[in-house]
Amino acid sequence: MGCLPAKPGRMPILLFLGIALIGACLSPATNALASPWAQVRTVSAGPPAAIGEAANGCLAGAQALPAEGKGYVQIRRERQRQFGHPQTLDFVRDLGAAQARQTGRYVMIGDLSQPRGGLMSSSHRSHQNGLDLDVWFLLADSPGQAQRDWPESGAPPSMVAAGGLSVNGLWGPDQRLLLKLAAEDGRVERIFVNPAIKQRLCDGERGDRGWLRKLRPWRGHDAHFHVRLKCPAGSPDCKAQAPLPAGDGCGAELAWWFTAEARQPRKTAEDKPPPPMPAACRALLGQPDLARKD
Ligand SMILES: [Zn+2]
Repeated sequence: MGCLPAKPGRMPILLFLGIALIGACLSPATNALASPWAQVRTVSAGPPAAIGEAANGCLAGAQALPAEGKGYVQIRRERQRQFGHPQTLDFVRDLGAAQARQTGRYVMIGDLSQPRGGLMSSSHRSHQNGLDLDVWFLLADSPGQAQRDWPESGAPPSMVAAGGLSVNGLWGPDQRLLLKLAAEDGRVERIFVNPAIKQRLCDGERGDRGWLRKLRPWRGHDAHFHVRLKCPAGSPDCKAQAPLPAGDGCGAELAWWFTAEARQPRKTAEDKPPPPMPAACRALLGQPDLARKD
C-alpha cells in the first residue's frame, strides 16, 4: 500500500524527490493505464531473480507466499499480490514466528508482488522486483479472524492520531516489537513508516537505538509499514538502493516532516511516462503465460 520513491535519501535529496516524484507517486487509486504485468497470471520458469529496482523492475521464478503460517496470515489475497523472491517469503515466515513467540498472535501481511512482479495497476509504484512487502501494524487473534474482518473492501486501522502529529491509542508494545524485529533483520534494507510513528520511537527508545536508522519517514504508512529487502545473492540484475544516511534519523530529517512545507497537500500532477523497462523484464513479460485466455 502507499506509494514510495525508488531511492529515498537524505533531506536535501528528499526535498528534491518530493518535487520530482509527485508525478511518479500515485494516490492509492488506479494508475493511469492498466499495467500489462497485472494481466500475467503465472510465475516464470527458472531460478528466482530480482531484476531492476523496486519502482522499475520485475521478478523471475517467483514463489507464492502460503496464505498462513506460524504467526502470520496474508489478508486480501484476491489482489493476486502474494508473490515474492524466496528471500521475501523467508522473511515473512521468520517475522511471523519471532513475533508469535512473544505475543501468541498473528501478523497480517499485505501486498507482496505480482506473479512476475512489474508495475501494478493500482496502489503502488514500487513492489516491482519481489523484495517489497507491506505489514499491517494491527495483530490478529487467528487467521480466520483476520481474513473475515479485513476483506478487500476494508483495511486495518491507522495508528496515527487525527492531525498526524502523534500515534493514537491503538499503538502499543506489539507494534513497536514488530518494527524492531523487522528492522533488526539483516535482510532488510529499509522500512517506511509514518513520521509520527518514527517520532514516537525516537522519543521513547533508550539504550540501543541503532535499529531506528532503517525506519524512514514517509507519508501514509500509518496502518501498515513497508519493508524493502536488500538485493539477494543470485540476482545480478538487481539494482541496489542508495545507502542509508548515517545516524538514527531522529534529527532534522524527521523534523522536516512536521513543517508546514511537508504537510501541505500534495499536488496531483499527471503521471510521468515510465522509465525504460530493464531488458530482462521485457523478456520476462514476453514469456508464455499458460493461464492466459487470449
Ligand atoms: Zn508498500
